[in-house]
Amino acid sequence: MVRRMRYADVMGGADMTIMRCENLSKTFQTGEYAVHAVREVSLGFEPGGFCAITGPSGSGKSTLLHMLGGLEYPTGGKVYYEDADLYQYNDNQLSLLRRRRFGFVFQAYNLVRELTAYENILLPVMLDKKQPDKAYIDRLVEMLNIGDRLSHLPGALSGGQQQRISIARALANKPAILFADEPTGNLDGVTGREVLALLRLVGQELGVSLVLVTHDLGIAEQADRIIRLEDGRVASDSGAK
Ligand code: ADP
Ligand code: MG
Repeated sequence: MVRRMRYADVMGGADMTIMRCENLSKTFQTGEYAVHAVREVSLGFEPGGFCAITGPSGSGKSTLLHMLGGLEYPTGGKVYYEDADLYQYNDNQLSLLRRRRFGFVFQAYNLVRELTAYENILLPVMLDKKQPDKAYIDRLVEMLNIGDRLSHLPGALSGGQQQRISIARALANKPAILFADEPTGNLDGVTGREVLALLRLVGQELGVSLVLVTHDLGIAEQADRIIRLEDGRVASDSGAK
């Protein structure tokens, strides 16, 4: 398989990141117990890269992803998208940034059951009160091979089809970064690998940066870079400089 050219190589080794976090931490306080879900994590992500975050259950993967994606406030440290400090924004500014620049794919697909597949895909564009870019949406539909499913309700689709619809939805607003949390977790092995291969292909074609959480090493190995968390800390990082 052709390896993605590293942005830093093209830029003559310049240290370019689209997103970075510094000493990022999250402590959950439940009663008298404090759970240190993420501890002082500092990472940079290259534009157009495909990075997998892996590690055992409870190691802080989802919490880290949610903080990177602007979905959960840290208790310590910073997240920067380009040069913007994410959590300096107010709620409105943050949700606008999320809607326009980030896409999200979750294990449970989260499609609206009353809407057709096509309506689900267009939802983020509609929420942003924009006209859909028909040619771009057509291209997504073609790449994800869902053209013959667009008029179906989610309940009439297989798990793999639902996840491909949710990937199209996550990409509908042309995000810069796609965050995926265990996107293959509800799929059988073969379907999961197919969906992952499509995700990778679409990310590459569109130049979208992928940050993917998975506890499945076979899935993680398809990424350009693997970060392993243990107990809220980075235990290893194949992309470490
Ligand atoms: P992973 O995604 O790697 O399985 P999580 O990020 O979901 O791990 O969780 C990391 C740790 O934080 C776990 O110990 C989990 O129980 C705890 N945790 C996650 N979310 C919450 C929450 N909302 N309240 C309290 N503890 C939480
Ligand atoms: Mg998780």
